[in-house]
Amino acid sequence: MEVAIMGAGLSGLACAITLEKNGITPTIFEKRSKVGDRFVNGEALLDIFTRPVQDCIASLSNDYGIYLKPTSAIQRMELFSKNEHAVIEGHLGFTNIRGRNHDSFESQLEQQTEAIIHYNSEKTYEQLLSEYTHVVMSTGDGAYAKKTNNFREDLSVSIKGATVEGSFDKNTVMAWIDYDISPFGYCFLIPYSEKEANISIAIPELAENADVEISDRWDTFYSMVQSQLKQKLPITDQFQITRYLMGICNLARIGNTFYVGNNFGTMMPFMGFGQYASIVSGVYAAYDLCGLGSYEELTKPLRQSYEDSLVLRRAMEQISNEGLDLVIRSLNGYWGGKLFLTKAINPIRVASYLLRPYIKMKKGVTS
Ligand SMILES: Cc1cc2nc3c(=O)[nH]c(=O)nc-3n(C[C@H](O)[C@H](O)[C@H](O)COP(=O)(O)OP(=O)(O)OC[C@H]3O[C@@H](n4cnc5c(N)ncnc54)[C@H](O)[C@@H]3O)c2cc1C
Repeated sequence: MEVAIMGAGLSGLACAITLEKNGITPTIFEKRSKVGDRFVNGEALLDIFTRPVQDCIASLSNDYGIYLKPTSAIQRMELFSKNEHAVIEGHLGFTNIRGRNHDSFESQLEQQTEAIIHYNSEKTYEQLLSEYTHVVMSTGDGAYAKKTNNFREDLSVSIKGATVEGSFDKNTVMAWIDYDISPFGYCFLIPYSEKEANISIAIPELAENADVEISDRWDTFYSMVQSQLKQKLPITDQFQITRYLMGICNLARIGNTFYVGNNFGTMMPFMGFGQYASIVSGVYAAYDLCGLGSYEELTKPLRQSYEDSLVLRRAMEQISNEGLDLVIRSLNGYWGGKLFLTKAINPIRVASYLLRPYIKMKKGVTS
């Protein structure tokens, strides 16, 4: 068996690590000049999005033998709508760095594999398929799956972000869901340390947002964060992405091609979380290749999470700032803690179940 992995990101590297543990050495093809050779940004793993898994980092090491050191444990989350503010306290998840940083998740994964990585690769999927018996598609963008008509595109977003200097609590993450700033989208502040943080704004590319300029919204957001934190936050690095695809493949495996990570549909449309599912999808593809399970079967819960998340995303597109104020107000206190901290409850599943008939009536949700 000759396995080619196209893309040395979270899912591709997790696949390589798992294959090697089981005696198969894959070859990895990466289009960039090194692992993580892209912008630096802060990301988060939130337990509320990975239920029934309660602690992603422990689960990755205990269940899958994938070892990752996050930047910090999240002990506090501050959520803002236009007029309301909720604070949730307790163990909520982890923050981590992505991209060029030597501690980034992809750099940590790279250190756990001995597979050869061919950098600056221009190999196409078709070339890899002709040279290898199996191909794992882990390019992070769903574009190939789309090109082969194996991808249902549900949403694309524009994202602008920056690294800022200031004084931060590294255990606190902040999120804003205020449509005056990011219509139908969201904004985050994720600290890297006590002195640096990543701030970002994500705006969905919807017909309603046709006239929305992300650079204008960014300026508003950046001023607002500085005034809310009562600090000047000088920018040291920044990035912008247009048309970041979110969708899901129709079939997780076609012949000897496996769609993993964002190619599978691990990026959750509700609030843009996808790291944990991406890593796990890479592991599952490796299990199938090693005869330890069926990829299609193993990914069923990931597919369910994606569809649940899509229902919540569609609900977000129906709500106004007044509705968001109501949601944030109700999260402040007992119910917020209950929702975020009770292991037995999967709020995304429950909310999606309750909202599904309404959303089905209003918009295209397929299952
Ligand atoms: C700005 C931003 C913020 C995010 N924040 C969060 C967050 O806070 N929490 C969370 O859980 N998720 C977050 N996500 C989502 C998460 O980052 C992704 O779901 C995850 O990285 C997807 O993993 P992947 O393996 O599919 O792709 P990636 O990790 O992106 O890896 C893809 C790799 O493939 C390579 N590649 C691309 N095309 C080719 C090609 N043709 N040939 C060879 N190699 C190729 C790329 O260079 C890259 O190395 C965020 C995403 C973005 C963009």
